[in-house]
Amino acid sequence: MAVSMTDQCLANNKRYAEGQANHKPAYPGKQPIQPAKRVAVVACMDARLDVEDLLGLQTGEAHIIRNAGGVVTDDAIRCLIISHHLLNTNEIILIHHTRCGMLAFTDDLLKAGLEGDPASEKVLGQATGRTFVSCGKCAATPAQFHAFRGEIEPLDAPRDEKNMQRLQWDVRRGLSAILNHPWLPSSGTDAVSARGFIYDVDTGQLDEVSYPGPMGPAA
Ligand SMILES: [Zn+2]
Repeated sequence: MAVSMTDQCLANNKRYAEGQANHKPAYPGKQPIQPAKRVAVVACMDARLDVEDLLGLQTGEAHIIRNAGGVVTDDAIRCLIISHHLLNTNEIILIHHTRCGMLAFTDDLLKAGLEGDPASEKVLGQATGRTFVSCGKCAATPAQFHAFRGEIEPLDAPRDEKNMQRLQWDVRRGLSAILNHPWLPSSGTDAVSARGFIYDVDTGQLDEVSYPGPMGPAA
């Protein structure tokens, strides 16, 4: 059986974590619009993730879709549908990571802080180590920030069992959104595969998240 691109990316990641350079930085010359490796990656915007490097993907080989958390939002789904049906990708790699900022707040807390709630301002200031300056105004958008479910923790807290569980929950939620979407076929001749991972920013390594898997309460 042929090795999937996702498995090849995992092998590249092992080398990356050992300190080897994977990504060629120079302009590659003229290339087709379709990603050569037929891969689409959804990943967090965190500054410590260099997605092409950590997966060993070169310019022209993959779509890289990034947002706060690597959350599979409506917009990420929109991108994935276009990526598959119009640009021929057929493997999706979803990446969350340790020490993610999305573990350190809740949607209600951030909204209240932005609107001017003094207690929320104080908590957010303490959580981020930055003076949180309220805007003192309401806003209709964004409807959601998609902070990860579970009890919040200090920003940039090291990996532990509890925050790994919270990350796994959101990876599974994202995989569910992808694998159950009617416009992203998961079987048949035009099937798209999707696998989810947690990237450890302290080691450079990817750990796969089982799917389906437990979605229980925080321990
Ligand atoms: Zn993050």
